[in-house]
Amino acid sequence: MIQITMPLNFLGTVYREIRQSLVDMGQMFDLLDQPPEVADKPGAPELRVTKGEVRFDDVRFGYDPERPILRGVSLNVGAGENVALVGPSGSGKSTIGRLLFRFYDVQGGRLSIDGQDVRDVTQDSLHAAIGVVPQDTVLFNDTIRYNIAYGREGANQSEIEDAARAAQIHDFIEGLPRGYDTMVGERGLKLSGGEKQRVGIARTLLKDPPILLLDEATSALDTETEAEIQGALRLAAKGRSVITIAHRLSTISDADRIVVLEAGEVVEQGTHEALLARQGRYAQLWHRQQAEEDDAA
Ligand code: ADP
Ligand code: MG
Repeated sequence: MIQITMPLNFLGTVYREIRQSLVDMGQMFDLLDQPPEVADKPGAPELRVTKGEVRFDDVRFGYDPERPILRGVSLNVGAGENVALVGPSGSGKSTIGRLLFRFYDVQGGRLSIDGQDVRDVTQDSLHAAIGVVPQDTVLFNDTIRYNIAYGREGANQSEIEDAARAAQIHDFIEGLPRGYDTMVGERGLKLSGGEKQRVGIARTLLKDPPILLLDEATSALDTETEAEIQGALRLAAKGRSVITIAHRLSTISDADRIVVLEAGEVVEQGTHEALLARQGRYAQLWHRQQAEEDDAA
């Protein structure tokens, strides 16, 4: 049994915790579907996050070196900035997320956080600095408290409640007869997709990472639930550097900056308004999606 008999510290290092959350993520995110293939340098120091600034400088990468996927991507996410990555399927958006986690090393250029090349720091410290909100949070057969506390070893009840409040799930939990002691998961209370996602957000908030990576799945939630989740994510994003990999442009139109990727290259970037005014690639994608949404409605 994974619950109760498995104390949080069984998970050991943050690395293991991250490996575990890979299991969570593999299910909804195609972002993290690869096992780490890279190793720490001997004696590598920990990443020291001061501002949370993420920089891609002329990054080149291909899963098969013969077939380049990123062809010189430069992109900067300033401290506390909210940047959305958009572009057609296969343009390399999720690959950018995988490189940020250093599941692969870049083949050209450089990727750094607060000036430190991700190849020079421990993966533990790198992974601890980046939170990922999965689209389909995996729940353990345990209490809802355990399921949130999993975000950080040793969190106390009031910290757990604060995270749940920020994720807009606290009132729901309090309304359950057994509150935070309610058993959830396959053998407990079944939560809806939106509720599960809020538990995932609470977990990530408890971890309190300076950098957030959101890879929106195309699927799942109905529009109303999605709007609520967007609200919770907006709260979660406050004070952090956020990269959102977006499929539905309507959910990221208020990003500080939108970066349009095409065939592994940044072809445009700017605010929603600036990009629409430009009448380029983004405007084209936007009008197409608007038409599709109108058709659907
Ligand atoms: P996006 O997220 O923009 O849809 P991805 O970054 O997932 O695009 O993929 C970019 C390209 O890399 C695609 O052509 C995809 O087929 C290829 N690709 C993705 N993952 C792998 C992999 N593990 N091995 C080989 N090719 C891959
Ligand atoms: Mg993708």
